[in-house]
Amino acid sequence: MNFPRQNLRTPGPTPIPDDVVAAMGSPMIDHRGPEFRDLILRVTQQLKQVFMTRHDVLILTASGTGALEAAIVNSLSPGDKVLMPTAGAFGDRFGDAAEAYGAQVQRLNIEWGQAIDPGLVRRALRQDPEIKAVLVTHNETSTGITHDLESISQVVKGEFGKLLLVDAVSSLGCIPLPVDGWSCDLVGTASQKGFMIPPGLSFISVSPAAWEARKSATMPRFYFDLAAARQYLELGQTPWTPNVAAFFGLSAALDKLMEQGMESVFDHHAQIAEFTRNGVRELGLELFAQDEKRASNTVTAVKIPQGVDGPRLVRIMHDDEHVVLAGGQGKLSGKIFRIGHLGYVSQEDIEEVLEALQRVLPQVGFRHG
Ligand code: PLP
Repeated sequence: MNFPRQNLRTPGPTPIPDDVVAAMGSPMIDHRGPEFRDLILRVTQQLKQVFMTRHDVLILTASGTGALEAAIVNSLSPGDKVLMPTAGAFGDRFGDAAEAYGAQVQRLNIEWGQAIDPGLVRRALRQDPEIKAVLVTHNETSTGITHDLESISQVVKGEFGKLLLVDAVSSLGCIPLPVDGWSCDLVGTASQKGFMIPPGLSFISVSPAAWEARKSATMPRFYFDLAAARQYLELGQTPWTPNVAAFFGLSAALDKLMEQGMESVFDHHAQIAEFTRNGVRELGLELFAQDEKRASNTVTAVKIPQGVDGPRLVRIMHDDEHVVLAGGQGKLSGKIFRIGHLGYVSQEDIEEVLEALQRVLPQVGFRHG
């Protein structure tokens, strides 16, 4: 099958730079041989810079959910009480995964479109001293909100000393997340977001406190046993056959990130996000984020105006303009659309989206002003 060129603006998978695509076509190597050892040791060191951690970072062959599942099953036991502040579909899903393994999940439901108030987390932790861990989604891809993880961590770690498990699938590598600086215990992310490579790898950082928790954690685990991953990493290997082609891409992509410098990568995402928000407003549309200070630098959620058929808008953008947007998830289906601007993205890509929207919006019944 041939696929046409598209302006892929879903919040992951993202487009992939040509040199990264070329790197992934390199001849296959033995994943138990010296070439792979050099490769995994090098990319692991580079990943530590992206995670801003001195501690362990492990690479799993799985999508982001694999890393999140690994965080849960390596630190918790069935019956453990877990607090899950959530304001969107991915926050909810993180809790669903913990529940699937028998955790008692206390959900702190926050209105979708709002940011988590660290004060509510404090109150919940005060009310139930038995809570062992807090699960936080740093960037809620379904609503386009980046939660204030630094302040949440000050409560969870600084005031209560609980385990902090973070879903950073759509933030890490794009939005600053100093893992050690914010005392995060287990942080999971995925290759197809900020890393400019296809889906297939996930990355997880593990703090000393998380390793300590693992000693008594009894949730079942096999493929996602982080102790096995750490043991094999010492040999320059992974316990199971890794996605070697994605490792080739990862190496090329990390070289690009390192060359650009992470500060500059973060600034780039901040600038593109602001350009997107301004452009959307100029079209007469409204952002879904209630507080623009918390609007995400990786994905912009836009309200579908009254009288406009949202799914039709997304369909025409796809079919006629070759711009691939994301619709709303769960209860936001038909209420918002989302523009991804993470990983490999330029201002021209967003200009193209805005110009296409200007053409398509009148076709779906929208009149500006
Ligand atoms: N968490 C967040 C915040 C996400 O954006 C996504 C995917 O979009 C996931 C989790 C799930 O990741 P994956 O589909 O790679 O398993």
